[in-house]
Amino acid sequence: MEWAHQIEHADIVHRCFRCGYCKFPSDYVDFNCPSYKAFGWDTYSPGGRMWLIRAWLNGEIETSPHFAEILYSCAACDNCKEQCVFPRFKDLLPEIFQEAKEALVNEGKIPPPVRDYFKAIAVNGNPYKLPGEERGKWAEGTGLQHFSDQEYLFYVGCVGSYDEVGQKMARHVGILLRDLGISLGILGSEETCDGNEVNVLGETGLFANLAEENIRQFLEKGVNKIITLDPHAMNAFKRDYPELGATFQVFHFTEILAKLINEKTIAPLEYRTKVTFHDPCYLGRHNQIYTPPRKILKSIPGLELVEIRRNRDDAFCCGGGGGNFFTDIIGQGEDSPARVRFREALDTGASILAVACPQCAKMLIDAAKAEGKEDNLKIMDMAEIVMKARSK
Ligand code: SF4
Ligand code: SF4
Repeated sequence: MEWAHQIEHADIVHRCFRCGYCKFPSDYVDFNCPSYKAFGWDTYSPGGRMWLIRAWLNGEIETSPHFAEILYSCAACDNCKEQCVFPRFKDLLPEIFQEAKEALVNEGKIPPPVRDYFKAIAVNGNPYKLPGEERGKWAEGTGLQHFSDQEYLFYVGCVGSYDEVGQKMARHVGILLRDLGISLGILGSEETCDGNEVNVLGETGLFANLAEENIRQFLEKGVNKIITLDPHAMNAFKRDYPELGATFQVFHFTEILAKLINEKTIAPLEYRTKVTFHDPCYLGRHNQIYTPPRKILKSIPGLELVEIRRNRDDAFCCGGGGGNFFTDIIGQGEDSPARVRFREALDTGASILAVACPQCAKMLIDAAKAEGKEDNLKIMDMAEIVMKARSK
């Protein structure tokens, strides 16, 4: 088939045992692949997906809207990479899924919500179809400065710029870091999409355009160090932009807060409460950042940290990854990943569910509302929790 060459790892696809270990966490007591958990059919599991791709590459099945929907229901959570039993093959799993999506993009056979997402980013520079001039509105009244010669660029991303939940989180993080003495500036209306989801969804041409434009702008402005609000943006800047020549030092805001705690810059703190933490996939499994958020929470006297049953590299994705936050291909039913994850957090008996990603924040807030339990477990971002502890 003419598109088979686009799957760089076509020979590897045939090595999947279809044993199914990849859809579990390490204790095998529940399903940890969010798309499998939501749909319940083996074709939506990583192993099933591999066999579908294999049949597709062999010409046994045609490209169809249903096939595309199955591929695009993957939340790119990396659980299958973590759990696959085949050592030399597991690292290539997410790449194979991404290459298959890239082939669908090149064939022009992608689900309508994915097509609309790409179009909005290409035309408006954001998936909300809102004007670029409104991108800096979240910072109005905060006193945060435009980037000039500060030590760090604070990059907030599309969700932090336009979504109400993301904007609130961007304000908390920007104000807290500034008040703790971090020298930072923002790009406001000059900021554009980082492209992490565009890349994961397979539009590599659009991703390269966004990345090149961002790199050009950052270099022109003299940016050396970047703090991101969103682990997704951090992932693109840290893991993909270097392939295009970028050499910026990139940090997630929780890493900076944890560093300030290490240096004893944040003191005194107190917050008597019970908190649990949701590991974002792009902070945790994708970038192995598990300790900084926990260090921040544990440093607060009076705060008891209780872990969700599935945590760290076993964490269950909120279902927003892989562009699903925008395309909603997994859906929002009772067994949607976000609602399952919220119920799991509720089981800890904590009063607060701490989040470190604006996409997780929004997904879990919506899940809490759908469950009718907003008052039982409050969702707060890490910066908001530290601010609250400082005000006590
Ligand atoms: S991806 Fe790995 S763990 Fe999953 S079915 Fe294939 S070989 Fe088994
Ligand atoms: S990356 Fe996550 S959602 Fe996608 S197949 Fe693997 S476990 Fe499932």
